[in-house]
Order: sequence, then structure tokens, then C-alpha cells
Amino acid sequence: MRKRLVAGNWKMNGSLAANRALLEAVVRGAQGGADCAVCVPYPYLEQASKLLAGSGVALGAQNLSEHASGAYTGEVSAAMLAEFGCRYVLAGHSERRQLFGESDAQVAAKFMAAQAAGLVPILCVGETLDEREAGGTEATVARQLDAVMAKAGVAALGKAVLAYEPVWAIGTGKTATPGEAQEVHAFLRGRVAAADAAVSQGLAILYGGSVKGSNAPAIFAKADVDGGLIGGASLVAEDFLAILKAAAV
Ligand code: PEP
Repeated sequence: MRKRLVAGNWKMNGSLAANRALLEAVVRGAQGGADCAVCVPYPYLEQASKLLAGSGVALGAQNLSEHASGAYTGEVSAAMLAEFGCRYVLAGHSERRQLFGESDAQVAAKFMAAQAAGLVPILCVGETLDEREAGGTEATVARQLDAVMAKAGVAALGKAVLAYEPVWAIGTGKTATPGEAQEVHAFLRGRVAAADAAVSQGLAILYGGSVKGSNAPAIFAKADVDGGLIGGASLVAEDFLAILKAAAV
């Protein structure tokens, strides 16, 4: 059975005081049964790393540079994230793709930079509402996934996590139905299986998009859903812990 993961994406939220309270509560409440991680803003990595030390909750970041070092003002490398104890890093979150113009090729380069530094990339894919309504969901997620498989090779997915996040469900309160999520997850797993069946069977595919404690159990009950990538609800310990509980097997 695949290990499940619930990862929080705090986005650009937090303060030293609020982070401490949130992380202390998450560490207190996190039980086994599913892996748990929080992806925090860069300036809070050191604080979070200290507060999570010795707990079962892993640390992650929300972005990274595709470059290893050099004249890239404002950027942060994968090796820097690793030095602060990160295990995970998001690659290709839809907000990065849409608001900051990250291309499929750039996301693939970031994915590879993460792995080169020993981090586990969480590769995010997902369609916009227009793409879904035009019947283009599979074409979009296939394009986003294929860009990484073509550059990094299918074996690289053996040391990564995939997250399906329909853009229309992120931060909107609209969630894909469990059936809609399962359909896309199965499609993604099938696409990886066509290249390598063993890698596809071991690959954790998270669902993200307005997951809450109330809808998580039905979504996580689907065969190809292996946990969640959680935005808004990861900022409230009680909500995040309820989702983590729903993922426990
Ligand atoms: C996200 O930011 O990845 C996300 C899924 O956000 P939300 O849970 O708030 O929809």
C-alpha cells in the first residue's frame, strides 16, 4: 500500500508568533497513519525547522530556483532549502505558473534541481476552469506531467510526489467531487504506468483544492488519491489535523 501524505501549503501567510502556535498544535496533534508536512514561507524555515525537530512532521518549501547558485537576485536554491532541513518542495504550483509565468520547462528544471539536492519535489498539475469546460483537463495535466517525465525521466517520479490541483478549486471553496478527482488521478497514474508500471504503483498522488475536514474522508477514500495538498485549511491547526486524521490508514 502506498504511504499517504498530507502537506500544508501556507502560501504567503504567517508570523513568528502565529507560526509557533500553529506548529506546536500540529506537532501535538499529529498522529501516525499518514505522513505530514508543512511548506512554509522562506523566512520561516529556520523557525519551523526548530519547532518541528524530533517530531513526525516534515518541513517543506513552496518554491525553489532551477539554478544551483549565482547571480539570481531574490532566488533560493535547493541546496539552501536542504540546509534548513527541508524534505519537500513544491514545484509548479498553479499560483507560480499563473502569477509568475512559470513554464512547463521551468517547472521541470525546478523538479530536477530539487532532486539533485536530495529534496522530494511535489509536482503540481491541474487545469483551469476554461480548460475543464472545453474538455481539456487530460490534455493539460498530461502536458504538465510529460514535460517533467521527458526531462527528468520516469524513474525520477519514484522519488517524487504528484499533486493534482484543479486551478478552479484552489482557494475558491469549490472542490472536485471525489469522482472527478479519482478520474484525473487514475489518468495520471495510467500515464506514468505506460512508461513504468512499478513507478506508477508507488507514486503518491495528492489531491488539492479546497480540502476541508468535512470533504477529506470521501476524497481520500478514492483508490488513486493518496492524501492532500492543503492551502487555507493548513493555517488552522484543528482543520489541518482533521484532514490528517482523514488520511490515516
Ligand atoms: C493550495 O494552495 O495548494 C491549495 C490547495 O489551496 P486551498 O486548499 O486553499 O484550495
